[in-house]
Amino acid sequence: MKRPRAWHAVAGLAACGATVTGARTVAGYPRSSTPTVSAAAVGLGAAGLMVHQWLSPRSRLYGPVFWHAKTPRRVMALTFDDGPCHPFTEQLLGVLDRERVRATFFMPGANVRREPQLAAEVASEHVVGNHTFSHPHLTWSRTGKVRQEIERGQEEIQDATGREPELFRVPHGWYGPQVISTAESLGLRCVGWSVMAWDWNRPPAQTISQRILRGSTPGGISLLHDGQNTDAFPEADRSRTIAAVPRIIDSLREEDYCFVTVPELRSLDAGP
Ligand SMILES: [Zn+2]
Repeated sequence: MKRPRAWHAVAGLAACGATVTGARTVAGYPRSSTPTVSAAAVGLGAAGLMVHQWLSPRSRLYGPVFWHAKTPRRVMALTFDDGPCHPFTEQLLGVLDRERVRATFFMPGANVRREPQLAAEVASEHVVGNHTFSHPHLTWSRTGKVRQEIERGQEEIQDATGREPELFRVPHGWYGPQVISTAESLGLRCVGWSVMAWDWNRPPAQTISQRILRGSTPGGISLLHDGQNTDAFPEADRSRTIAAVPRIIDSLREEDYCFVTVPELRSLDAGP
C-alpha cells in the first residue's frame, strides 16, 4: 500500500480552494467577498507551494530529499555531477587525492558507458551515485520513463564499477512526486544540495570558490560539475571548476571544516 504523503493534503487544499472559489462565483457571490478571497488565497497558496517544491532541490513535500545534515559539526560533502569526463575528472581525482578528500559523484549512465574505466577509477576511491542514463528533464515525465532512466543508469554504473549505487540525484534538480517515489521504490535515496556555484555557466574559478564558500554551512552539500550532460560532450570545459576545488578545500579547512561523502554525512544527520 502506498504511504500517504503530505502533498496529498496540500493538493486537496489547492483543489478545495479552487472549488469553493468557483462555486461561490457561480452562485453569484461577489468575487471580492471575504470568504471567496480567502478560499482563492488558500488554493493559490497551496498550488504555489506544490510548484515551488516540484522545482526545488530541497523538496520535502513530495518525499524526502537529503540536501543537508542537521549537525553542528563543521563537515561538508563535496559532490560532482555529470562525469566522468576526460580530462577533467582525472584532474579532479588528482586534486582530491593530493588533498586526501573523498567526494560523491553523480554520473549519467551514458557518460559511464563512454568512459567506463574512468568511472571505475572514481568508484575505487569515492562514492558514485545514479544521475539517470541520458540526463533528461524528468520533471513532468511519466513514472515509466523515470523508472527506465534510473534503471539504465544503475545498470551502466554497476557494469563499469561493480558497485550498485544507493544514491540518486535528478538531473537539473527538479524533483517531482513521481521521481522521488520511483527512486525510493528502486531502493535509492534522493540527494539535493545546499550550495551551488552556477559553474555550468563557466564563471572564473575565483567566483566559483567564493560562491561555494559563502554558502557553506555545517552539514552542507555542495554541487559542482566535473562533466556535462551527455549531449554536450565533448564541448564540456570544466577547467574553471577544477581550478576552484583546491581553493574551496583550503579555505574551508582554514575554517576547521572536514570533508565527508554523502553516506557519511547521512550518518551524522540528527534530523528526522
Ligand atoms: Zn546533471
